[in-house]
Amino acid sequence: REGRRPLIAGNWKMHLTHLEAIGLVQKLVFSLTEKQLDVAEVVVLPPFTALRSVQTLVTGDQLAVGYGAQDLSAQDSGAYTGEVSGGMLAALACRYVVVGHSERRALHAEDDAVVAGKVQAALRHGITPILCVGEGLDVRRAGTHVPHCTAQLDAALEGLSAEQLTAAGEGTGVVVAYEPVWAIGTGEVATPDDAQEVCGALRSRLAERFGAETAGIVRILYGGSVKAANTAGILAGPDVDGALVGGASLDADEFAQICRIAA
Ligand code: PEP
Repeated sequence: REGRRPLIAGNWKMHLTHLEAIGLVQKLVFSLTEKQLDVAEVVVLPPFTALRSVQTLVTGDQLAVGYGAQDLSAQDSGAYTGEVSGGMLAALACRYVVVGHSERRALHAEDDAVVAGKVQAALRHGITPILCVGEGLDVRRAGTHVPHCTAQLDAALEGLSAEQLTAAGEGTGVVVAYEPVWAIGTGEVATPDDAQEVCGALRSRLAERFGAETAGIVRILYGGSVKAANTAGILAGPDVDGALVGGASLDADEFAQICRIAA
């Protein structure tokens, strides 16, 4: 995959207290070798309440796992009760933040404009957004999943420059995750060909809009029922640079095994 470092990110969703988070991260770090953590970038995405604990665990160890948040506000401060800003996440040294997860789009009515605002908020604060796109079952059945996903990508990156896509963080300013909604938490993983088809189309779209060099740097992940047993097949796609892992990231042994396969 032309020098793109594989990225395995564990989206814990609304699971684990900060105490449970400490236990899981410790187990994960001890399960992986320095070399594995050097080859693959391993990131956990705990709930906000566990970020400080995870930070104090891994800070100062360059080879340890990275971490980030699952969402942020598009606003930088103000009367937005319950929201968390990019500045607050940057103060916790978050390297990543998930933006546009299908659960946020569906359950919190986040449309493309909100998602674009959140991508820009993350970049304003030097945090790499993991931008999620993906089609539902109806779109997949209609066979329009590729234009659906490229349209979501276009909308979320509206107004950005090639430099912004590749500026910050671990070799890229933006990470894209293809997460077919029908495969999230359902146990129904996309086939390796399905994952490659859309990840490849997303990269082609990036090349059209931002140039081939930029498109060659941006990492594109697959997410949706990834487990150790299907990781190798999914990662075999030349445009699949890693995985966004939900359920399987809550089991340290399973998640470590996924990371080892990526390394
Ligand atoms: C996710 O929520 O990003 C995800 C991919 O979930 P799961 O792996 O559980 O399907």
